Amino acid sequence: MSEITVILPDGETKGFDSAASVADALVELLSNKQRKQTVAVAVGDTLFDLSTRLDSLGQEQIELRPISIASDEGLDILRHSTAHLMAKAVLDLYGTNVKVAIGPAIEDGFYYDFEREIPFTPEDFESIEAKMQETVRGGIPFARKVISKAEAIALFEERGEQYKVELLKEIEGDTVSLYQLGDFVDLCRGPHVPDSSWLQVFKLIKVAGAYWRGDEHKQMLQRLYGTAFDDKKKLKKYLNDLEEAKKRDHRKLGKELGLFTISDQVGPGLILWQPKGALLRRLIEDYWKEEHYRHDYELLYTPHIARLDLWKTSGHLDFYSENMYSSMAIDEVQYQLKPMNCPFHIAIYKSQMRSYREFPLRWCELGTVYRYERTGVLHGLLRVRGFTQDDAHIFCRPDQLEEEIFNILDLNLNILATFGFDQYDIYLSTRPDKYVGSEEHWQKATDALKQALDKRGLAYQIDPGEGVFYGPKIDIKIKDVLGRSWQCSTIQVDFNLPERFEVSYIGEDGREHQPIMIHRALMGSLERFIGVLIENYAGAFPIWLAPVQARIMNITDAQGEYCENVYQELRRSGVRIEKDLRNEKLNYKIREAQLAKIPYMLVIGDREAESGTVTVRERSGKNLPPMSVSDFAAKIKEECTAMLG
Ligand SMILES: [Zn+2]
Ligand SMILES: [Zn+2]
Repeated sequence: MSEITVILPDGETKGFDSAASVADALVELLSNKQRKQTVAVAVGDTLFDLSTRLDSLGQEQIELRPISIASDEGLDILRHSTAHLMAKAVLDLYGTNVKVAIGPAIEDGFYYDFEREIPFTPEDFESIEAKMQETVRGGIPFARKVISKAEAIALFEERGEQYKVELLKEIEGDTVSLYQLGDFVDLCRGPHVPDSSWLQVFKLIKVAGAYWRGDEHKQMLQRLYGTAFDDKKKLKKYLNDLEEAKKRDHRKLGKELGLFTISDQVGPGLILWQPKGALLRRLIEDYWKEEHYRHDYELLYTPHIARLDLWKTSGHLDFYSENMYSSMAIDEVQYQLKPMNCPFHIAIYKSQMRSYREFPLRWCELGTVYRYERTGVLHGLLRVRGFTQDDAHIFCRPDQLEEEIFNILDLNLNILATFGFDQYDIYLSTRPDKYVGSEEHWQKATDALKQALDKRGLAYQIDPGEGVFYGPKIDIKIKDVLGRSWQCSTIQVDFNLPERFEVSYIGEDGREHQPIMIHRALMGSLERFIGVLIENYAGAFPIWLAPVQARIMNITDAQGEYCENVYQELRRSGVRIEKDLRNEKLNYKIREAQLAKIPYMLVIGDREAESGTVTVRERSGKNLPPMSVSDFAAKIKEECTAMLG
């Protein structure tokens, strides 16, 4: 028997009998505590079960990386294993009336798709969880078996599992691996936890419809979602966050706060802004425009349609057509609803001869674009068919690129900070396999992006080869108060459009040159950004953004006239105020104002009416001493100024 040498990442090395398993080796190489945390191992990028025999790995010297159950990879294995556990429980309970499809781990947990005529109910969830716990207590091993494809097809055919048979028939190669948990057998690459006792902490979350293979012409299945963790506390936090996210759902709050609506009659994915949402949007737009003015940008407006030919020149018809709507004929010429603003800005650029002296040109537009999205993926404000980008295009000389990127980052992070976002992940995507422009240009542009990020002292990850074909880019994902990530800002260098549109300028040498074009959006789109804002603030917007800053309410009808005067005075001084002069109990009015998440309530009784003051109650319930109407107006102004820096 020959010996196989196992090397751990910390350098620990030992020889083993070739028939030994990974688990045998780890007993010798790891401390007890480490070993109890190790759910699988990696050799290179491939993961293996602990039961894997060392000689099956085909190397005399094996570098093994233990995978901890608490790591992302470990959690994936745990969750994927829990999907098997759930499928076993469902089959144990509902037997022959159920067919199993697929069950992977996903970002926050796992799912399994089942064919079953009767819908799963919350009561079923409890029975399924109880059944799963039974198996967990049994400590049943996940046994791996490699058999021929033909044998596997025969096995699943005999069990009536036609979805597995269909998958098997498409797999290349002669053998496949199966995992057996008790009498439940699944087609699976693995790896899995050694046995079911590892799967103590899980919870079924919800059920939703899902087509087999995501194809709406195929069978509708029931997708059971669940989550699993290595630790009870983590599950508890996850479930709390989930509850909190439900309360913050922008679709629910958008309706309750009267911000926006979507009408079937108008069409899915098309946002109708109600007065308060429209005001919120205007406040954001005004702030955005002012910030851009301060950063030396110029504002553009462009139309919503253009000749189809424009989109041929831009290349969108070739590589973006699946996101575009059908064209329409106007005077027998085809026109197209715009999916992007870029070609319009280029047309403005080309309306006259440009000189290097004018550079950089920084042109911004709140440009409304229309893109096709499948009905199934539309989601409130977050995924829509018509949206307004906070777009900008910068035309500059190559030597100005780094400074321009730096300026964009600066503006970007300032704007995000004003909205309360100061946690983000930044990604720099570099040249993909297919690209336009010269390698030298790519290198210079990528270096410029890096240098700007470094100069601003920002940490970033490099996504090699993930750039768009036309140039490298920076993406910024913001984190909200629940720690959720949202992609919003993007900064892209473009070597393609200037070429396609033959964009040029006259350089210092008197010759024509091609400028560098940068596309960028900071918020992404107003719709999506406002959706994120609603969830981040749970609808309780800071004073500078609140569509209604204060609501005035009388205690009895006797103060009606005084309230009316105060209302008029505050409105004239620019405070966004509402009045509630209904003949209702004060507590009732206060409760309603609190539900509407209005920052300040002005309560008016006889005392206030006589002394010409207002009593101010904060959204939190705290009462401030009475103050004059003008002092209140000044207080609001001061608070807004402080937030806007
Ligand atoms: Zn599996
Ligand atoms: Zn663009």
